[in-house]
Amino acid sequence: MRILITGAAGFLGSHLCEYLINKGHFVIGMDNFITGNPANLTPMAGNQNFLFIRHDVSNFIFVPGKIDAILHFASPASPNPTSPYGYTNLPIQTMKAGAMGTHNTLGVARAHNAKYLLASTSEIYGDPLEHPQKETYWGHVDPIGVRSVYDEAKRFAEALVMAYHRYHGINSRIVRIFNTYGPRMRLDDGRVVPNFIQQALNHEPLTIYGDGQQTRSFCFVEDLIDGIYRLLMSDESDPVNIGNPDEITILDFAKIINQIIGNPTEMEYLPDLRLGDDPQRRQPDITRAKSILSWEPHTSLEAGIRATVPYFKEKMGLHE
Ligand code: NAD
Ligand code: UDP
Repeated sequence: MRILITGAAGFLGSHLCEYLINKGHFVIGMDNFITGNPANLTPMAGNQNFLFIRHDVSNFIFVPGKIDAILHFASPASPNPTSPYGYTNLPIQTMKAGAMGTHNTLGVARAHNAKYLLASTSEIYGDPLEHPQKETYWGHVDPIGVRSVYDEAKRFAEALVMAYHRYHGINSRIVRIFNTYGPRMRLDDGRVVPNFIQQALNHEPLTIYGDGQQTRSFCFVEDLIDGIYRLLMSDESDPVNIGNPDEITILDFAKIINQIIGNPTEMEYLPDLRLGDDPQRRQPDITRAKSILSWEPHTSLEAGIRATVPYFKEKMGLHE
């Protein structure tokens, strides 16, 4: 297939490019580098099966030649207001990537009669009242809360994909991604994994927002990419959760990072920086992915973190 991947210079987009090229596909990567990093494209540089187009997906998209599939991953993704790369500091760009970017990429899918896959998120469930989160849950989102620029853009994007699916017959997929980590995350986007790993490597206290009793469920990037590929190749047009169901409090997560890296320093408790909009519990129900895609994650948290730390060491200029 000739596949268009938006957000190609980002964490997940770059892994997808590499994975799909290795599967024998031709990949066209698109990005405007608003939160991405050109260095993430290095593994594809010079590859005959890769073409990069620098472009903002909020504007009309032209792609040369036939396209068989589109994976729309372009969007800021970090909720952390302390980083210039957090979506609350890129609010209009985030809404445009989810709204106009989704509209433009769906237009390409329609023009090329191509398969379409949207990167949605566990954030569409908001601060969930149902636990764990099944795909049938409608969510609990404040439409004007600080996170709404991201959550509502993704909810709109899902609605638009379903409209194109129902009205235009687009062959679509929606993946609801839960917290994923691994090499190529931005060091300074403020998400919990880069923050904690860097703090631990620097022997600094890990910054816990609130009391650390909020939970997340962390998936290693390799497991996620495998799940996304299975979904792309399936016939499933309803949303599918892909994530690791091992739920953990942020405080326990911090302790594990300290233990793996060998950081003797204690935690630093900070006020909830996210204006009370921090989801308190998050855990995917992956029954649908298991039954439809025969997919489940295989990487333990410890193995995934150990596989991620060398990337951070290299970027931080630390040596083994
Ligand atoms: P990322 O910031 O590393 O990657 C996003 C990429 O999209 C960046 O390279 C950025 O420059 C690009 N981009 C943003 N707006 C653009 C625009 N208008 N035009 C062109 N390119 C644009 O983040 P990520 O973690 O790789 O997330 C990728 C996608 O997966 C996002 O859509 C995000 O919502 C979704 N997602 C990620 C996670 C996760 O845990 N990583 C969880 C849920 C959903
Ligand atoms: N968090 C934290 N310290 C940090 C960064 C994040 O305690 O330095 C917490 C944050 O409050 C949230 C969780 O870690 O409860 C995950 O945050 P992240 O920004 O990675 O993404 P989210 O899951 O909220 O989208």
